[in-house]
Amino acid sequence: MNRITIIGTGYVGLVSGAGLSDFGNEVTCVDISEQKIEMLNNGFIPIHEPGLDDLIKRNVKSGRLKFSSKIDKVIQNSDVIFIAVGTPENPNGDANLDAIKSVAKTISENIKNYVVICTKSTVPVGSGDLIISIVKKNIKSNINFDYVSNPEFLREGSAVKDFLWPDRVVIGATSDKAFSVMKEVYGPLYINDKPILHTNIQTAEMIKYAANAFLAVKISYINEVANLCEEVGADVHLVAKGMGQDGRISSKFLHPGPGYGGSCFPKDTKAFSLLSKKNGLSLKIVDAAIEVNEKQKIRMFNKLNKLFSFNLKSKKIAILGLAFKPNTDDIRESPSIEMINLILKNDGEVDAYDPISNNKMSKIFPNITYHLSWEKACQMADGVVIMTEWNEFRGMDLILLKKILKNPIVLDTRNILSIQKLNNLGFIFDNVGRIQNE
Ligand code: NAD
Repeated sequence: MNRITIIGTGYVGLVSGAGLSDFGNEVTCVDISEQKIEMLNNGFIPIHEPGLDDLIKRNVKSGRLKFSSKIDKVIQNSDVIFIAVGTPENPNGDANLDAIKSVAKTISENIKNYVVICTKSTVPVGSGDLIISIVKKNIKSNINFDYVSNPEFLREGSAVKDFLWPDRVVIGATSDKAFSVMKEVYGPLYINDKPILHTNIQTAEMIKYAANAFLAVKISYINEVANLCEEVGADVHLVAKGMGQDGRISSKFLHPGPGYGGSCFPKDTKAFSLLSKKNGLSLKIVDAAIEVNEKQKIRMFNKLNKLFSFNLKSKKIAILGLAFKPNTDDIRESPSIEMINLILKNDGEVDAYDPISNNKMSKIFPNITYHLSWEKACQMADGVVIMTEWNEFRGMDLILLKKILKNPIVLDTRNILSIQKLNNLGFIFDNVGRIQNE
């Protein structure tokens, strides 16, 4: 059984810690936020992620999963230390590695025996060398360590499933010893013959960025196709279906919408593009995906504005969905932020509802009104915008919606409502790339 420390107990660190303890390891999750650790020690889970509550409770009960804020002490008794701190975006688009560097220093100053230091955070290619150099500079001369890059591919909203049953695990290392330690850490996945890719460090770091940027490109591509569909009378759903049935393309990430958001794609595409520039190259396709994404968010607002004849002054707009996607409470870079900003800038009013993200959004927009149900948010609203495809919006009673709205105006940026029903009920509506009179 390996003794594992996970530094950074956020979406990635907490899910990975719980998952690795479920694989039979002895895991302690640590974090700079004492409040977060206290919450966890009191049985409260600070994020919303389906299945995480049960996974944590089960492994805490078995004694394999613990939480602590004493980072320096916990590190001393570890065989493997995972770094899972945030790497947010710097103003120039680069990844901010401050937390990574500070953690690398803390590790090097406190380890007493051989350890494997493993980065799970998404970091630009070359960061492994940087971390190794920081550790080497501060470590006592008689202690050895190995370095591993093990990027994480979990998706918020299905993170537990993705971690326990991954499509693949990428392990970048330079020593056989490090590979064999990781083999024990991920023991059940090796036993179950899950695809596990052994690479060098740079390749592992590259795989993560290349994969995220490719998915972002796919989304921006289908969004541009959807916009063109609107002009030429084609229906993007059928176009995406027809494209996706081609095995070389696949139907995944071909859903048009208000643009991608979240804590990964926006920052990772920018950092990836910057990495290419630093190396004297350009990633023109990634740059285009970023530009298209920014335009798509504005395009959604323009659609709303048009539905109101370009006059949103004092109009009460119900925003349904604040999270960047369903089944998560994460609002980082959510397209709903741009939508709300633009409505407010145009003197409109916002009544918002999200099943779990109201609280988080209230830190960004303390002065809009939040509701505890979509019905309340829509009551006497001048129009409604669907920003997140929560299941409860898919199943919305449109007869009731029409009754409670002041004006039957709907912008469905996720294409989840039946066009036929909207037409039959006399709604004035718009969506993304669909034929309007189905
Ligand atoms: P997060 O913001 O949810 O969590 C980061 C945690 O690190 C926070 O709890 C913070 O308090 C803690 N932290 C910051 N500095 C620290 C320090 N010096 N010492 C100890 N703890 C510290 O971030 P996240 O979403 O979990 O992402 C973490 C990394 O994983 C990022 O690089 C991200 O790009 C990558 N990633 C994220 C996802 C995702 O879906 N969220 C998926 C794959 C990869």
